[in-house]
Amino acid sequence: MRMIRALAALFLLCLLLAGCAAAAPAEESGDVPELVATVFPAYDFARQIAGGRARVTLLVPPGSESHSFEPTPRDMARIEGCALLVCNGGESEAWLDQILEDREQVPVLSMLSCVQALEEETVEGMQEVYEGPEGDEGPEYDEHVWTSPVNAVLICRALCEKLCELDPEGEESYRANLAAYEEQLWELDAAFREVVKNGQRDTVIFADRFPVRYFTEEYGLRYYAAFPGCADDAEPSAKTVAFLIDKVRQEQIPAVFTIEFSNQKMADVICEDTGCQKLLFHSCHNVSAEELEAGVSYLELMRNDLKSLEVALGPWR
Ligand SMILES: [Zn+2]
Repeated sequence: MRMIRALAALFLLCLLLAGCAAAAPAEESGDVPELVATVFPAYDFARQIAGGRARVTLLVPPGSESHSFEPTPRDMARIEGCALLVCNGGESEAWLDQILEDREQVPVLSMLSCVQALEEETVEGMQEVYEGPEGDEGPEYDEHVWTSPVNAVLICRALCEKLCELDPEGEESYRANLAAYEEQLWELDAAFREVVKNGQRDTVIFADRFPVRYFTEEYGLRYYAAFPGCADDAEPSAKTVAFLIDKVRQEQIPAVFTIEFSNQKMADVICEDTGCQKLLFHSCHNVSAEELEAGVSYLELMRNDLKSLEVALGPWR
């Protein structure tokens, strides 16, 4: 009896598998190479350039903090078996160092290595954050390189070269994907330049963490923010809040930004006090499970940021 049940279960499983294989698009079957990306922007860029020739997996679960990520044994197996690992690079992915040291054969592309890295900076009014034990100083690079669409182009070009090298048969397809995607990135870039050019001021305020230095640098924007980079969410000091409120008033800034997954508390205080608006400026660092499921893209999120920026640089109410 048990044997029959086992056989029946096996038969069912075969049916299921056969069904899945038939339903899945060609690229998901068999020996399709798997690309593994650590963070969302790496995932989206890999998906755009690889097109249907590879399956791309996002390693850091949606909605979770990439800086405190710890890989499971399954993640380790994925990295080991992947055709290419696309990572952010830098200190925030220190968890990756040992893994890659032990697995020299895994091809890797780090987004940070594709661009001119900028140091994290502390601007006037920013909350001081704990920088780790002494002796651990040296320059601290901002790792959120993808926030500049120009950097996105550089990353995608490097990705394309890497894929062509790993899979020469797909070269034509990768280059065509890159060309099409680049066109959209340059359009986005031109739209940002236009909004900045037509803006009434060149200052933006992040009542939040500030992981978008590459973005403001690219478009010549000045900024004030509560915390540098991706600092752990700390309570802002009364001094920081007061400073940002003063800036909103002095420069008559119609909207302050918050980033994704923020508690928005500070922005609420500032808005209540000054009457300015609170708008989302998505850093594309991380998306929710629902957004990922719905197929949200870097381009889509950045196009929404474009609208937010237009309001924030526009007239005071
Ligand atoms: Zn970060």
